[in-house]
Amino acid sequence: MADDPKPVARPARPCAVCGKPVDPAGRFRPFCSARCRQVDLGRWLAGDYAIPGDAPDLPEEDKTAG
Ligand SMILES: [Zn+2]
Repeated sequence: MADDPKPVARPARPCAVCGKPVDPAGRFRPFCSARCRQVDLGRWLAGDYAIPGDAPDLPEEDKTAG
């Protein structure tokens, strides 16, 4: 039995905006085009995306030692 490791074919993720296949080497990843990237950005700015959870917990590195 030949058990040669095959390269895992990663399915390209579709554009989150329009669902079109995204060029894995494209410059607009994960979107298919600059337009879709702008659309997504606009959604964020409009508050369309609800982010669950509260503020990110940052490590307290700002301790005053002295
Ligand atoms: Zn798109």
